[in-house]
Amino acid sequence: MKTNGVRIFAIYSALMFVVVFGLSALVKAPSAVGNAEPEQTGTEEAEPEVTTAPAEEKPELTEEGDPAEADNVWAMFLVNGNNECPEEYSNSIDTSLVYESTVRQYYMDSRVEKYVRDMFAAAEKDGVELVMVSAYRTNSYQQDLFDRSVEDRVNNRGMTWEEAKEDTAKEVQKPGFSEHNSGLAADIMSNEYTSMDDDGFEDTEAFAWLSEHAPEYGFILRYPKGKSEYTGIIYEPWHYRFVGVYYAKLLTEKGLCMEEYFRQQGWVDADGTAISHYLPGNEPDAPDSGADDIQEDESEREDEV
Ligand SMILES: [Zn+2]
Repeated sequence: MKTNGVRIFAIYSALMFVVVFGLSALVKAPSAVGNAEPEQTGTEEAEPEVTTAPAEEKPELTEEGDPAEADNVWAMFLVNGNNECPEEYSNSIDTSLVYESTVRQYYMDSRVEKYVRDMFAAAEKDGVELVMVSAYRTNSYQQDLFDRSVEDRVNNRGMTWEEAKEDTAKEVQKPGFSEHNSGLAADIMSNEYTSMDDDGFEDTEAFAWLSEHAPEYGFILRYPKGKSEYTGIIYEPWHYRFVGVYYAKLLTEKGLCMEEYFRQQGWVDADGTAISHYLPGNEPDAPDSGADDIQEDESEREDEV
C-alpha cells in the first residue's frame, strides 16, 4: 500500500509537472505570438493615424474656415455708421477691469478680460510694453467726447456748429456708433508712441508685435490701411477689436475688414445693415447658416485664397 502510494504519488507528481509545465509553455507561446504582436502592430499603426489626422485637419480649418470651430461667436457683430450698439446693450455689459495706468482704469466686456490680460502678458514676455489708452465707453461718455470735440472746433477753429459736427463725425463716432460702446474695442499703443494725430504708431515694435500676435488673442486691427471706404473710419493702427480667436485669425489671414467679411457672408443687407442674428446681444447661428453662406460664396472666394 505504502509503496504503491508512493509510486502513484510520484507518477502523479511527474504527470502534473509535465502537464503544468507543458501547458504554461503552450499558453505562453501562442500568447506571445498571437496576442502581443498584433496588439503592437495595431497600436503602432493606429497611433500615427490618430496624431496625423488632427495635424492635417488644423491648417485646413484656419485656411478654409469652418464656422462650427468658431469661439466667442457672440462677439461677431458689427458696430459702425450703419449699425448701432444700442444704449440698453451698452449699459448692461458686464465689464471687468482689464488694464490700469497710473491715472486711469480701463474696462471691457468681462468675457474678454482673459484674452486682453494674456495678450499684454505675452507682449511683455517678448519685451514689448503695450499701453491701453481707451477701452469701454458708455454711450453718455461717447456723447461727452463728441460734444467736446464739436465745441473745440467751434471755439478754436472758427467753425460753425454744423461744420463742427460734420467734421467731428469723421474722427469721433456718434454715441452708440463707436465700437468702444460695445466693450470689445481697445486703443492700444506703447510708450514708444502714444500720439493719435498721425500714423506714427505703425513704425513701432509694439505695432509689429500686435500685427503678428493680436489675432492669437482674438483681436483684429479693426481699421486697417486702405479699408476706409468699407469701414467709414480712417486708418487707425491703434484700434483693436475682439471678435474671437477663430474669426480674428480668419479675417487677418484673408486681409478682410469686418464690413467686407459680413457682406461676403450675406450677414448684411444691401445698405450694410446687419441681419438680426448679427446684432449685439443676439446669438449668431454661425455653425449652420454660416456654413451655407460660405458654400454660396465659395466660387467668389476661390480666386482670393
Ligand atoms: Zn478706438
